Amino acid sequence: MTLRIGVIGTGMIGRDHTRRIAQVLAGADITALSDYNPAAARAVQAELAPNAIVHDRGEDLIASPDVDAVLVCSTGATHEAYVLAAIAAGKPCFCEKPLATTADGAKRIVDAEVAAGRRLVQVGFMRRYDAGYRMLKQVVDSRIGAPLMVHAAHRNPTVPESYGTPMAIHDTLIHEIDVFRWLLDDDYVSAQVVFPRRSSHAHAALADPQIVLLETAKGVRIDVEVFVNCRYGYDIQCQVVGEEGLANLPEPMAITLRRDATLQSPIMTDWKDRFVDSYDVELADFIRAAAQGTASGPTSWDGYVAAITSDACVQAQEQAGHIIPITLPARPALYD
Ligand code: NAP
Repeated sequence: MTLRIGVIGTGMIGRDHTRRIAQVLAGADITALSDYNPAAARAVQAELAPNAIVHDRGEDLIASPDVDAVLVCSTGATHEAYVLAAIAAGKPCFCEKPLATTADGAKRIVDAEVAAGRRLVQVGFMRRYDAGYRMLKQVVDSRIGAPLMVHAAHRNPTVPESYGTPMAIHDTLIHEIDVFRWLLDDDYVSAQVVFPRRSSHAHAALADPQIVLLETAKGVRIDVEVFVNCRYGYDIQCQVVGEEGLANLPEPMAITLRRDATLQSPIMTDWKDRFVDSYDVELADFIRAAAQGTASGPTSWDGYVAAITSDACVQAQEQAGHIIPITLPARPALYD
């Protein structure tokens, strides 16, 4: 059976996921598109999915009998309503991060999915599908004893003027927040943010860099440097220190060049290139599960916990140096 997918939001990532499903992955077709700006949807239709129907409203796309499963790739603030509508229609739904822009909104999705009695939502935390993180997890699970500490960094060469201090959490750290829970099989109990000397390249609305300190229920201490005007490249680092050894996230594959008495290796500059393969794997997983009428991978619960943790980290930014406790409600059995 070919899964018929509708895509809501045909901007940067929606167009890219449409291309993936239309041209790279097997098992699914794009049968519907919708965007707040219909011209954007029609442009993607013309380029990548000529047989898709363009709907003016995302709600109509979800209700369409030609759509078996939904990709929500619109602006973050619109995700909650579309995901709730997909759950109400009983259709599997892949939702780009964030699941919702508030923890309450994410909780409403969890409640709706629990009431539906089966998993229908996959959240777009694609790092869990990255080959390097998967190798790291295998080693953390089997070779280094109990994890004790994580040292990590998320560095971007530059960000636009519109990027303010809280976005370092909501837009940037959000990926670390999810992937460390998965990597360590653990939950957070507190967050703290400290601000080093500010880079002269940071614009007025942004404190850059920042160091986020997270503590987990098992007592693991995590420090993450978020430095989004680092200039030199897009660089993701992660080192897990265990009681028997230490494991590093592999560097992306790159040529090493020996020339002019120098050893050189390029560093990426665009985040889209860094995790490009993981997007393919995450959507293949979505297609596989959705064809069975369900969802796998990162859950609504993971999206909800990420929202709670993000809120605590933003509070920790506002009260720099203070430790902010993170308390999670009991996890529903659906997510065991
Ligand atoms: P984008 O290029 O701005 O695209 C979003 C599109 O959604 C725009 O065409 C926008 O139209 C449209 N839109 C706005 N409100 C809508 C509504 N109510 N119904 C339908 N469409 C609507 O943004 P993007 O970079 O693709 O990001 C989209 C989402 O993906 C964000 O939540 C972002 O955080 C997430 N994302 C995740 C990753 C990842 O690594 N997992 C990477 C990139 C993006 P207008 O332009 O007319 O407003």
